[in-house]
Amino acid sequence: MNIEKREAVTPADFIREIIDGDLKSNRFQGKVMTRFPPEPNGYLHIGHAKSICLNFGIAGQYGGVYNLRFDDTNPIKEEIEYIESIKKDIRWLGFDWGDREYYASDYFGKLYDYAVQLIKKGKAYVCDLNSDQIREHRGTLTQPGKESPYRNRTVEENLDLFARMRDGEFPDGSRTLRAKIDMASPNLNMRDPVMYRILHASHHRTGDEWCIYPMYDWAHGQSDSIEGITHSICTLEFEDHRPLYDWYIDELGIHHPRQIEFARLNLTYTVMSKRRLLELVRDGFVSGWDDPRMPTISGLRRRGYTPESIRTFAERIGVAKRDSMVDVAVLEDCVREDLNIRAPRIMAVLRPLKVILDNYPESQVEEFETVNNPEDPSMGTRRVPFSKVLYIEREDFNENPPKGYFRLVPGGEVRLKHAYFVRCVKVVKDVSGEITELHCTYDPATRGGDALDGRKVKGTLHWVSAAHAFDAEVRLYDHLFTKEDPGDLDEGEDFKSCLNTASLETRKGCKIERNIASALPESRYQFLRHGYFFVDPTDSRPGAPVFNRIVSLKDTWTKKK
Ligand code: ATP
Ligand code: MG
Repeated sequence: MNIEKREAVTPADFIREIIDGDLKSNRFQGKVMTRFPPEPNGYLHIGHAKSICLNFGIAGQYGGVYNLRFDDTNPIKEEIEYIESIKKDIRWLGFDWGDREYYASDYFGKLYDYAVQLIKKGKAYVCDLNSDQIREHRGTLTQPGKESPYRNRTVEENLDLFARMRDGEFPDGSRTLRAKIDMASPNLNMRDPVMYRILHASHHRTGDEWCIYPMYDWAHGQSDSIEGITHSICTLEFEDHRPLYDWYIDELGIHHPRQIEFARLNLTYTVMSKRRLLELVRDGFVSGWDDPRMPTISGLRRRGYTPESIRTFAERIGVAKRDSMVDVAVLEDCVREDLNIRAPRIMAVLRPLKVILDNYPESQVEEFETVNNPEDPSMGTRRVPFSKVLYIEREDFNENPPKGYFRLVPGGEVRLKHAYFVRCVKVVKDVSGEITELHCTYDPATRGGDALDGRKVKGTLHWVSAAHAFDAEVRLYDHLFTKEDPGDLDEGEDFKSCLNTASLETRKGCKIERNIASALPESRYQFLRHGYFFVDPTDSRPGAPVFNRIVSLKDTWTKKK
């Protein structure tokens, strides 16, 4: 991807200021090396995209390198499927980590040796308390913790027990290795945190080689150090962990990256934790991780978002040191701006109402030439067929129009885009009173959409010729949640209680201009007045495209409020 271009538009922020400072003071010999460290226990979401754009963007901007490292320390929750999806998503976003793909599990041997080193220094011990007891001993924010009765084991005893933990002599949960720091520390992370736990479980990469697994906090900082990362950029919740990471690295005397924390991205009307997203997938509230309503990268991709729009979004929101909530409308604007320039225009009628032009010759067909994209003449023109029987939107006709309704009404006249003025002369209904068709007359003197006599109409409607349209399924999406912050819960309330039951509307038999009857999967169009649409890559069939609405033309939601 074009890094130069991004450099020019990237505003200076506090992270880049820190890096500039380190380059000046030569703290890392002029090097900049970052990483993106996902835990492969779910699919990536738009928050991760922010982190990827930040980490990889910075490395690119400073002529440095970036690593992709899977922090795969938990054998229970991790799956190959997640690793594959994460790689696919990052590639799609436009980043290439080359051969710098690492796994924390590659360092299990090294981490074990580091642990032995700390035991030998008298800085780590094997503890026989179970997890409940450890929690009880830990104390609270206002009360110091209690020391474990096993805290003062000899180095020899600790070395022996730790080796036997590794050799599989003890059952799960019976012992841990803990750092010997300070049970009275005001920072709970420093109260003799667990470094290793016993877990007789197969790991997706190391198989049954290990039955002790490093805790995330023990693995993360050392993994960064082993790789020679200069700037470990992470989210704010790790600020309190930084003293622990510093302690480990300094006790081991190894390369010391600088950790910088920034605020994680929260978006309105959605949730961003992998645990909650997993729950939505597992319990069938959405069709999968790539459901177009999901804030996952795979969901946004299937919805039709472009990688460019997501990278623009990441740049636009910038980085901050305080948690906040970003309006999802900002993300929607980014894709709108991108597609306004790139998407060809098409006429599509999503709730068809038949219109018969009484005075139009029976078998006549005219073609109106129109530009594909007024923003970009190089996208050429196309011909749109017009004939006696047409479809317009049901919403574009109203028998009892409210004030300010400029569309078609009985006896009224409107413009059919690119074509003629038409006047409604008759409304036909079925026995239940539902309108089945309209009869109109057209004015041949208004060909092209303007009246020679200077007569004006207020409404311009899109339409398709019945004989020249094809039927398609169109999916319209709304926010997944009705509440701006679905995570803001009363006690005992479930985040799923504010799921939007109307977040997906499927319309069949929509009438689409024949010019895109053989639209290829993953193409994008602007349907006039309706928004931007994407040909669904999974459910479309040759000659039978299914369209997902990416975003409407205007932010109707904010207006509704
Ligand atoms: P979640 O809370 O969704 O489960 P996580 O932090 O456990 O996310 P990781 O796989 O550990 O997920 O995240 C990889 C990287 O992405 C981390 O460096 C993390 O700080 C960053 N990250 C995760 N969520 C966000 C977010 N909402 N905004 C920005 N960065 C994020
Ligand atoms: Mg994490």
